[in-house]
Amino acid sequence: MSLLLTLAPLSSGVRADSNLTHRRAHRRPVPRVVRLLGSVRGLRLPRARIVRWVDHSAHTVARYYGRFPASRVDVSVRRGYGRRVGAGRTHAGRRIVIRLGRRVSSHALDRDWVLVHELLHTTFPRLARRHRWMREGLATYLEPILRARAGDLSEREVWARFASGLPQGLPRRGDRGLDRTPSWGRVYWGGTLYWLLADMGIRRQTHGRRSLRDALRAIAAAGGNGRVVWPMARVLRVGDRATGTHVMSRLYRRMARSPHPVDLRALLLRLGVHRATRGRAFALDHTAPMARLRRAIVRGR
Ligand SMILES: [Zn+2]
Repeated sequence: MSLLLTLAPLSSGVRADSNLTHRRAHRRPVPRVVRLLGSVRGLRLPRARIVRWVDHSAHTVARYYGRFPASRVDVSVRRGYGRRVGAGRTHAGRRIVIRLGRRVSSHALDRDWVLVHELLHTTFPRLARRHRWMREGLATYLEPILRARAGDLSEREVWARFASGLPQGLPRRGDRGLDRTPSWGRVYWGGTLYWLLADMGIRRQTHGRRSLRDALRAIAAAGGNGRVVWPMARVLRVGDRATGTHVMSRLYRRMARSPHPVDLRALLLRLGVHRATRGRAFALDHTAPMARLRRAIVRGR
């Protein structure tokens, strides 16, 4: 890898290969792609701790893409109450505003998912309003997977999130497909189901040689990030071409314009995700027919 590439603004600061960046960083200050802007006065934690949280979240996303797939993202903090990370919002794919409680703890930052979710919105093109499910679904699908890859969640926690959330994304009576049913459940969890099925479909059709990551990296490489608006047809074309399949476009046709019910219970059982006998806990069955696929989604390419 050339020195030039290492120091290019797009790839520095949040590179997957952080050793390389650190080794060369002393020669010239490395510009950060994702930066904390503005004051954090009034928070119990020092600014350095907040910066570390922003950097860690950015690395979590960059590791998946190979680099952070946007040119610059500013993060500003609004002060709230309590100890938690509050709501976040992404503006025009370049600015994230996120609320932190005055007494937010280091532990709450370690467990935070909101910033990774918002950062994921900066990595994918904006779309017409009716396709909102595609962007919210992508952020909801990838956030726990990427955090597991960063060592912040276990594989079981990822699937517990999916198993408890996905039922809210199933079509109800009167549903007219994801493009025409803008309910909360369909937007967030219906969108998550689209991406889970797409990831599974790509892996199965390519015998594990390709995954959703290839489609998303290709979209990002073609300039498709949160700063631009793309037509749906372009997203599907670039994504499918990168995987050598028609998985994304076919699934889009089925799920966007008709209800497309999915037997979620059967799907999760095949993946080896079981509700434990008591309570709300979930357990993983490593002998299930699609256990390898399930593991690859969280741990693989
Ligand atoms: Zn969102």
